[in-house]
Amino acid sequence: MENYPWWWVLWENLLNFVIWALGVWLLWPLGAGGIPIAAIGYIIVIIVFIWILLKKHNCTTCYYYDKWCHLGWGKYAALFFKKNSGNPKTGARLAVIWMILPLIPLSGAVPVMLWKGFSWMTLIVLIVFLALNIFQFAILRKRGCRRCKRRFDCAGSAAK
Ligand code: SF4
Repeated sequence: MENYPWWWVLWENLLNFVIWALGVWLLWPLGAGGIPIAAIGYIIVIIVFIWILLKKHNCTTCYYYDKWCHLGWGKYAALFFKKNSGNPKTGARLAVIWMILPLIPLSGAVPVMLWKGFSWMTLIVLIVFLALNIFQFAILRKRGCRRCKRRFDCAGSAAK
């Protein structure tokens, strides 16, 4: 696809925000003095890596710069960064954050249950968080990549 449809962009972004919100919920009890330090750290990692560094180093050098890619991030990057202003090699290295990000709430939920005691609610949120991550990585990503103009030259393509 040259430009993904609006409903696709909306749906994938909503899914991302739901996953991040569940991650924040899981980490919320980990803090000190009433400050949810772990949740704040998780939000900062998302803002810095996903919304700034990846946009700068991946999206500014991507075919979809200033276009509607499956997440609409080509358009977002064009608002804040100049075309080709990033380093694609740095971007490729930074993409590992997609693997690390789900591990933060997963590793946080265990100490939460040890510290606060077992909670069915925490367990249910943890399972939903895990299921949505698997769905996103194993199913949705493949569908997006299959329709992507970069599917044959992108190192992260799931449609080879
Ligand atoms: S092939 Fe997949 S990972 Fe690579 S740019 Fe396209 S959608 Fe993104």
